[in-house]
Amino acid sequence: MTLALTGHAVARGIAIGRCHLVERNELDIGEYRIGVDEVEREIQRYRNAVEAARRQLEELAGRVIQNVGIGAGEIIQTHVLMLGDSKLQDSTEQHIRREFCNAEWALQMQLEQILSEFRSLDDAYIRSRGEDVAQVVRLIQNKLNEEAADKPFENMPDRLADTLVISSELTPGELAILHERGVGGIVTEHGGPHSHTAILASSFGIPAVMGVRRAQALLREGETLVLDGGLGVVYADPDEAIHSHYHQVQRITRRFKKSLEAIRDLPASSLDGQLISLQANAERPAELQLAREQGANGIGLYRTEFLYLQGAPPEEEDQLAEFASAIELLGGIPLTIRTLDLGADKSTDYLDFSQLRRCTNPALGLRAVRLCLRDTDLFKTQLRAILRASALGPVRCLIPMLTSVQEIRMVRFLLDEAREELDARSMAYDPDMPIGGMIEVPAAALAIIELAPHLDFISVGTNDLLQYALAADRVDEQVAHLYDPQHPGVVRLLRYIFREANASRIPATVCGEVAGDRQYTRLLLALGLKDFSMHPGRLLEVKQVVRETDIPKAKAALTRWFNTTSTETGSSLLKVIDDSQRSG
Ligand code: PEP
Ligand code: MG
Repeated sequence: MTLALTGHAVARGIAIGRCHLVERNELDIGEYRIGVDEVEREIQRYRNAVEAARRQLEELAGRVIQNVGIGAGEIIQTHVLMLGDSKLQDSTEQHIRREFCNAEWALQMQLEQILSEFRSLDDAYIRSRGEDVAQVVRLIQNKLNEEAADKPFENMPDRLADTLVISSELTPGELAILHERGVGGIVTEHGGPHSHTAILASSFGIPAVMGVRRAQALLREGETLVLDGGLGVVYADPDEAIHSHYHQVQRITRRFKKSLEAIRDLPASSLDGQLISLQANAERPAELQLAREQGANGIGLYRTEFLYLQGAPPEEEDQLAEFASAIELLGGIPLTIRTLDLGADKSTDYLDFSQLRRCTNPALGLRAVRLCLRDTDLFKTQLRAILRASALGPVRCLIPMLTSVQEIRMVRFLLDEAREELDARSMAYDPDMPIGGMIEVPAAALAIIELAPHLDFISVGTNDLLQYALAADRVDEQVAHLYDPQHPGVVRLLRYIFREANASRIPATVCGEVAGDRQYTRLLLALGLKDFSMHPGRLLEVKQVVRETDIPKAKAALTRWFNTTSTETGSSLLKVIDDSQRSG
């Protein structure tokens, strides 16, 4: 009988094949005492283990860079960087010296400390970085105990085509090895959609479902599995109907992918000849790389929060180094750097903003530019780094969560100060670097006429704009049904924004999720949008819809819909616009 197991849908695609269960050997980390005269030897043992782990990962990263690409290799490099993290290393060595204990135990104590800090954070992406630390620590612990070490691939065939690998968890490094062996799909019991393993599975194109509880106990070695990475489902012993359905889906998917490949180098122009700009959202090198591969016109949203999650506030030089390598990777296409957007759904204890934790409604509290205008030293450090980056390539600066003209004035005042500080240090920057504002607050949307003269461009953050306009928390599943981009109020608000931006002669982009969701592409085109910014993996899908859309027809359908709202509201809108394309 068919058994269906569900988990996180982390990497799309269908895989059909035989089940292979990975046997993992959990290391038993015990504590034992060492003598005073053994301390230095123990520290050396620890350092040798770190070095062995580093060599292993670097070798693997090198192979991945060569065979797959820089982006995928850099995900493995993240673990190499964590291995060299001085905080982990120093505190482990201090623990050995202070407690006279073995290296494995000292490391375990540091891990537990770090994990307890990560667990207190309410952001899933940031919490996933805790999983990375645990994986890196386990790798060192395995190197300290080569004999008892976990060797998950020892009994695994060299070729894994048509094999689905089931494991309690997988590190990015282990996934890279499975990829080299041609694995068909993966299922893990732990790990979530924000883990590096999940991101890497997408880059490799390996269908994957993670967080499937008790997968190892419920699935049997050798049985046939069907995995739907888009739905997050694994079927064991599938019946004939499931089998033929998924074979059919595989055929359709192959055809769809081929049709996307065929337009990779073609322009994003509509049937009536309008050229549409398609940009990418990015925050990691892998996404920047993918954006280039998929022909993005630029990076419309470069999120910088990741810089603030690494132990200490990032220095100007560290930020500049990140921006410089992004600019180099992009090879001349523009980079829109968004200033720090911490707070609300991206909260962290790390900066110790005790004000943040005190507020009862973080989404309406001290977040994004509000936070930056409170802590101007922190903000100016970032502004200086962005300005210096602007001397290295085409850079634009984007301010999140703007509400009022007063805030833009304050940002511009701080930018002037940052420029003066750079002048005093004879540092170069682009004096004309464009400054844009994110339109995420409904009142700001309705005040475009007032805001536009102070900005060079706007970018509509529909993720937040919708949550504020609909009073529906973007991360609360209980109100997810209210979070509807087709709500007539939202559609009118968007129409107003694009019209007023156009009248004020200020370019407008949409960088929220709807920009990369092909079902909304025609609606946005009908509303007058000419510049989309989305996850780079969506660029070709959206381009395909653009190329198949007659914008004047879509606009006419939207106008009719606006005039007959009493009957045709809500979900019928997308259909009305799609139907317009079929009319003569
Ligand atoms: C948005 O709000 O639409 C947006 C792109 O910003 P973020 O999702 O990072 O809040
Ligand atoms: Mg936002």
